[in-house]
Amino acid sequence: METQEITPQAQILQLLEQAWLARAVSAAAQLNIADALQDGPQAIEELALATGTHRHALGRLMRAMCAYGIFDSTADGRFQLNAISQALVSRTRGSLRSIAAMLLAGEHWTAWNELEHSLRTGETAFDHHYGQDVWAFFRQNPSRGAAFNQTMVDSTTLSNQAILDACDFRAFEHLVDVGGGHGSLLRLALEQNHAARGTLFDQPTVIEEARPLIAASGLAGRCAVAAGDFFHAVPADGDAYLLKYILHDWDDARCLIILQNIRRAIRPRGTLMIFDTVVGQSTSNDMSTLMDLNMLVMTGGRERTEPELRDLLARSGFAFKRVVPTQGLVSVVEALAV
Ligand code: SAH
Repeated sequence: METQEITPQAQILQLLEQAWLARAVSAAAQLNIADALQDGPQAIEELALATGTHRHALGRLMRAMCAYGIFDSTADGRFQLNAISQALVSRTRGSLRSIAAMLLAGEHWTAWNELEHSLRTGETAFDHHYGQDVWAFFRQNPSRGAAFNQTMVDSTTLSNQAILDACDFRAFEHLVDVGGGHGSLLRLALEQNHAARGTLFDQPTVIEEARPLIAASGLAGRCAVAAGDFFHAVPADGDAYLLKYILHDWDDARCLIILQNIRRAIRPRGTLMIFDTVVGQSTSNDMSTLMDLNMLVMTGGRERTEPELRDLLARSGFAFKRVVPTQGLVSVVEALAV
């Protein structure tokens, strides 16, 4: 059988088309359209009412969504979930709603719109546009900050199994999650290791959001929370420190301050576990290189290769032990305090 050659032009056009499609999916996620269809098919009027949208405009979005197989339509012209849009329902296992809504909308989209500025100057597009860094922005816009933190929880939940397959938390007594957000990774670790206690550390605004979540998880008895600034100091006396999606937010000088603060706080021979996308280790195509551009525009950080991470560790008093790739986007880099 003759295979059809896809021309370079067609490939580029397809990419541009997919970018529009992805932006439209993000809007559908923002508007909670999948949630509104959970109880069964709806006519466009009902769906518009339920999602606070304009009937005709929403009709056009849904026509496109159905054309690309993201949602389905029924014989009588109503709209319904299919297996793909099921993944856009919030608060379900493996939900991508918050991630789809976050990555291609709001302040992320605005920063990406200034990618060329970063490319011309090397500056962080986000800071250039907003006049402050993303963390200050989230502090000042608490609903956006909370949405971001929820996105981080959902991304941990998605990689839960991959993380548990790749690392063992059972050898530790006191785990400290530095920049732990709402504590999803620490909760996972404490659920695997019933004898351990944990300390969740993040900025004060984030810790205030995390407190009730820890209480609700039933772990409050052995999980403390601590608010502060990891450029100043981190909680002491852990035999394991977790750093998930932290180093990629910062340049080398800032990373060294964080690592040195952990080095000062950690017990002798304690273990540091870095969860980050390692360039060249990702099993999913090479998304690490795009995540790296996301860091260029959003935070001024970067994704690093294994040698780059080893270098940071050596300069902050840690001995590199190993890097374990997971089935997800993150790898686990383990090091020992020396
Ligand atoms: N580790 C979490 C969150 C990663 S997002 C996870 O993987 O789900 C980065 C985190 O760093 C955010 O929660 C942010 O509030 C925190 N952070 C940023 N600057 C900080 C600082 N100076 N001190 C402490 N935490 C900080």
